[in-house]
Amino acid sequence: MGLEIDHAHGSYVYTKTGRRYLDFLAGIAVANIGHTDQRVVDAIRRQAEQYLHVMVYGEYIQTPQVKLAEKLASVLPKSLSCLYFTNSGTEGVEGALKLSKKFTGRSGLIGFHEGYHGDTQGSLSVTGREVYRRPFHPLLPNVTFLPFNDTASLSRIDLSVAAVIAEPIQGEGGIIIPDKGFFKALLTRCREVGALLIFDEVQTGLGRTGRLFAFEHFEIIPDILVLAKALGGGMPLGAFVASPHLMRCLSVDPPLSHVTTFGGHPVSCAAGLASLEIILNDDLPRKSREMGSAMLDRFGELAQSYPIISDVRGMGMMMGLDFSDPDKAHQFVQSALEAGLILGHTLHSNTVVRIAPPLTLSHSEMEEGMKIIEGALNLLCASPVG
Ligand code: PMP
Repeated sequence: MGLEIDHAHGSYVYTKTGRRYLDFLAGIAVANIGHTDQRVVDAIRRQAEQYLHVMVYGEYIQTPQVKLAEKLASVLPKSLSCLYFTNSGTEGVEGALKLSKKFTGRSGLIGFHEGYHGDTQGSLSVTGREVYRRPFHPLLPNVTFLPFNDTASLSRIDLSVAAVIAEPIQGEGGIIIPDKGFFKALLTRCREVGALLIFDEVQTGLGRTGRLFAFEHFEIIPDILVLAKALGGGMPLGAFVASPHLMRCLSVDPPLSHVTTFGGHPVSCAAGLASLEIILNDDLPRKSREMGSAMLDRFGELAQSYPIISDVRGMGMMMGLDFSDPDKAHQFVQSALEAGLILGHTLHSNTVVRIAPPLTLSHSEMEEGMKIIEGALNLLCASPVG
């Protein structure tokens, strides 16, 4: 986008040229509490004055890590009470894949077409878009991709499978929301063959979809949960989460089966805790649910007037406008940017425009964004119908 950032605050990003942009991307689903919240900045400052990195993750007891882990465990189901902090989403996925292979003693992995799990080689191996994998073959062997939201194909998950990895809502795939029954059937199939179910909630977690975690919408509990993005409150942080029973296998044979120097950095964990407290105390999942549903209604109305929008999808504040045409989608994003609104694409679907504002978006900010969106649509279509 070429914006040179001066500072960012709340729902806005300010450039060196003195322009203010309304941010409907939130750093791609990171700034769930808005940019540069003072409580997070204070927590970072306090921790930075106390200590930065003191030791490779796991050797010392570091209070910010313990406090954030305790808080997360208190809002997660009992079977997801053991956390391993990482630097990023992709490292969290690597940890989840390694844990599955070690626990089951199997090597088979199942991913879904158009799924996205990160860009290191293990995560890329289960990412369902060949164009991104092709330059890097050979990747992990024994990976099979199934069509997303297709219950009939689940019979292909067999006894060789260590884990099935899925995003509850595909983000980079173009905001694809599966049927509730799909994940229930998937979990049942995993149980039948003894495979683990990994939910990659790097993008959907921490209130984004209108629940604290998106698995709550689907009334299932995955065996392993991966978090990142909003987890660090604007600082780099990820985690994979499982039961103590599962997680224990990484501490034996060999004892240090996953090591990370900076995983759970104390400053990131302090920021993450301050951010999680805001998410919980201000009930941001509810705000996301209510504002998201109001915005989806408005987008639905716009789609009636502007048929270049072929579909409107979303859950909470994770939304997509499908233009069915990459050029139209691109022009729309460009003219919104020129008018002061940040929107973006999804990596695997160039016809979809992603809308993921901070969950703290106010009503007047929403109206400001809607006005720009309508203006950009007007520019695209000389004469709207209806
Ligand atoms: N999984 C999902 C669902 C993601 O959206 C992303 C990032 N877009 C990742 C994993 C990778 O996270 P990171 O960029 O922190 O490695």
